[in-house]
Formats: sequence, C-alpha cells, structure tokens
Amino acid sequence: MDRIAMKTPLVEMDGDEMTRILWKMIKDELILPFVDLKSEYYDLGLAYRNETDDQVTIDSAHATAKYGVAVKCATITPNAARVKEYDLKKMWKSPNGTIRSILNGTVFRTPIIVKGIEPNVRSWKKPITIARHAYGDVYSNTEMLLEKAGKAELVFTGADGSEKRQLIHDFDENGGVIQGLHNCTPSIESFARSCFNYALDQKQDLWFGAKDTISKQYDHHFKDVFQEIYDSEYKEKFEALGITYFYSLIDDIVARIMKSEGGMIWACKNYDGDVMSDMISSAFGSLAMMTSVLVSPSGVYEYEAAHGTVQRHYYKHLNGEETSTNSVATIFAWSGALRKRGELDDIPALMRFADALEKATIATIESGRMTKDLILITTLPDPIALNSLDFIKEIRKTLEAEPA
Ligand code: NAP
Ligand code: MG
Repeated sequence: MDRIAMKTPLVEMDGDEMTRILWKMIKDELILPFVDLKSEYYDLGLAYRNETDDQVTIDSAHATAKYGVAVKCATITPNAARVKEYDLKKMWKSPNGTIRSILNGTVFRTPIIVKGIEPNVRSWKKPITIARHAYGDVYSNTEMLLEKAGKAELVFTGADGSEKRQLIHDFDENGGVIQGLHNCTPSIESFARSCFNYALDQKQDLWFGAKDTISKQYDHHFKDVFQEIYDSEYKEKFEALGITYFYSLIDDIVARIMKSEGGMIWACKNYDGDVMSDMISSAFGSLAMMTSVLVSPSGVYEYEAAHGTVQRHYYKHLNGEETSTNSVATIFAWSGALRKRGELDDIPALMRFADALEKATIATIESGRMTKDLILITTLPDPIALNSLDFIKEIRKTLEAEPA
C-alpha cells in the first residue's frame, strides 16, 4: 500500500516516561505504516530539556507558530523530587506553560465518547468541550491575612499620576482576609477569539458564563469583550454555519449543561475552567479518554492528551512488568494533528486517514478489547484486558481491515 504523502512538516514534540513509550508504539504501529510522515522532531524529554537549558521547548513553540500544527507527548513538569531524580541544573518551567505563553493560546479539552463507557450524566450524548482562560484572576493574585483593625482599599495609580481609590472593607480588631485579582483586556480578547475560532472550526455552539450581575466591572468586562468581538468579527460567520454564541450567568450555564445532551464548547474563566474540566472529565469516565488542543488566536494548533506521563506505569515498565496504559488520548492527538495538517495543506487522504484511525480506535474498544483502566468502568459484557502494546496492535488490525 502506498503511504500518504505530506507537504508541510508536522511539529512533533516527544515527551517523558510511559507516554514516551506509548509515543513510539503509536508511531511504529499506527502512523508510519500508513503515512510518509514529514515531521520536525523536538525532544521535550526532561533529560534533553535540561541539556539545552530548556531552549528546545522554546524552539518547538516557535516551530509550531511557523508551521501551524504540532502534536505533543505528555512531559514532566519538574518539582523538587524531579530535580533530584534527573539531576537537573534547575527546576525548569512547565513546557505546556512555556508553549502556551509563546503561542498565547487557549486550551480546549474534549472527552472521547465510546459505547460501553457511559457518562454519569444520563442526558449527555455528545462530548462537552471546556475552554479554560489560562491567564490571571486568582492564579496570579495578591492576598493578605489581616490580624488587626484597619481599612483595606483598592488603589490604582495611573501612569499619568492620577489616582483612583475605593474602600474594600473597614476591618475591626478581629481582622480577615483580602485579595487582589486582575486580568488584562488583550488576554481576554485573545481568549474570546480563540474560542470563536474553535467554535467555527468544530462547527459547534459556543457557551460562555460569568458572574456579571454580582461583579459589575470585572466579570461584566469579560461579557462585554466577548459580545463586542462576536458582533464585529464573528456574528456573520456563525450565522452562515448555523451555530450560536450564547452568554448567560455562570449558574444558569451550569444548570443548562447538566440537562443538555452536550455537543457544545463551554468557555470558562480561569477558575471555572480549572474546576469544571475535572468535573467533565470524571463524569465522562476517564482522564485517559480526554484530548486537549491549544489554539492560538491566530489559528495555530497544538494537540495532546490531557493526562500526564503516567509515572506509576512507567516504573512498572522499567521493572520489566507488563503495563496496560491507555493510549487513546495520545492516538487522538496524532489524528487531530494529522487531520488539521491535511486540512491546511489540502490532502484529503490524510484527513480520511485521521478519521479512519479514530474510528478503528473506537471500534476496538466497542468490540470489548481495551486497557485495564476502561475494564474498571465499562458496561460491556466480558471485556478483554490488553497490555499497552497489544491494544495498539488490535487497533492496527481493525484499521487494516477497513482501509481509509
Ligand atoms: P497522570 O500521568 O495523568 O497519571 C495519574 C494517574 O491517572 C495514573 O497513575 C493512572 O492511574 C491514571 N492515568 C492517567 N493517564 C492514564 C492512561 N493513559 N492510562 C491509564 N491510566 C492513566 O498524572 P500524574 O501521575 O499526577 O503526573 C505524572 C507526571 O505527568 C508529572 O510529572 C506531571 O508533571 C506530568 N503531567 C504532564 C501533563 C502534560 O504534559 N500535559 C499533564 C499532567 C501531568 P493508576 O496509577 O491508578 O493506574
Ligand atoms: Mg483542576
């Protein structure tokens, strides 16, 4: 069989631990036999990040901006234990954080739905995608614990020397707590554009909720920025596709999500997104079945799995023990990236291959063959537990039985 040719290179970011093992298996079994892969390879494994003083991460992000599409393996974010384990020169920053700040993007997380892994919420039939604004609010706050009487004020000193001052609270001797939050208008604008672009890309409705009735300046600003950008740049495109932008109070959005059948993109402020993405992923079944894509406001895409490097399984693997690690989200990162590359370069065969790979992955699970994490939650009768490699090989068999 002729392998599918590519035009522009795909930026490939390799990673760490068990997902690095899966990465090679996926390439060898599911990508290279079918696609004449043209990729620009960056090794984001911790050892090489350390060797290059993390320059490789920065280079990979710039390559993504240049070519437009990347696929990324999960990577270790170093903590004190990792500094020791890998004898690091320094506690390097989270690669995802570095890439996100260079691309100025928003992360969209979507569950992969298969028959036999039923969502806990009965009405959900289609995936719900969460878009989290990853800048500011409580994540870059300034806070104080107050233990005596005094006046807390919010003060803004303009660059022109002007001053704005507002009373927060007059504390008595019992004290209390205060917190200063901020966000920047350009960041909210980028977030809004990434969300509108992704809704167009996915042909799905976009929902956004905030607490604008209580927070009449702060949350209301988010609402206004979204509405202004929608009206001036996206309304016509949304109407042409028959999709809608829907704003409501965050409480109302939550209530509607629980009663919906899914199938929408839900834009969340930073804290809401942090909390709600965990709620959505656990309600849909498993973190191992969540894909994640970083979308920049200029339309650059970086695909990955939502889970980490699955360290516990890796140490079993190093001990020579068999593992049964779920590769579905990483496979979907590859299919997502290849489909996008096919779309941008007008290679229909590559887009069909991405569809076929996803279909084969889902069909394999629905036929009862899956990794152990899914065995624990499936409603299918007599499922068969496979090890990491055998599961991928089963997908290959399914794929070869039904060529794209
Ligand atoms: P994790 O790798 O997501 O794994 C947590 C647990 O979830 C695993 O021990 C496993 O449970 C289960 N799990 C996750 N993915 C699975 C899969 N594909 N198949 C089967 N089970 C899966 O999170 P972590 O252990 O907290 O973090 C490990 C490393 O990943 C850390 O160094 C962290 O910095 C990094 N990380 C990277 C990213 C990223 O690159 N995007 C994201 C998160 C974390 P059982 O052990 O019970 O089987
Ligand atoms: Mg969270």
